[in-house]
Amino acid sequence: MSGLNIDVNIDKHLNATLVVECPECGHEITHHLKTLTPDSILPCTCGTRIGLSDQHLRRAQSLHTQSIAR
Ligand SMILES: [Zn+2]
Repeated sequence: MSGLNIDVNIDKHLNATLVVECPECGHEITHHLKTLTPDSILPCTCGTRIGLSDQHLRRAQSLHTQSIAR
């Protein structure tokens, strides 16, 4: 569950987009970070439902904080 590949993209308005790699097919699913809540489910096009825990969201938020601090 904690082995998800998570990244955060910041646009020019400093909005964060969460990028999660599907563990089944490797497809990258994007979602606005600020609209996500713990236990959100991101459906992949392959049918996999990727569950995001509180831990995943905290990791994404710390990536976001690091990115805008640069
Ligand atoms: Zn997939």
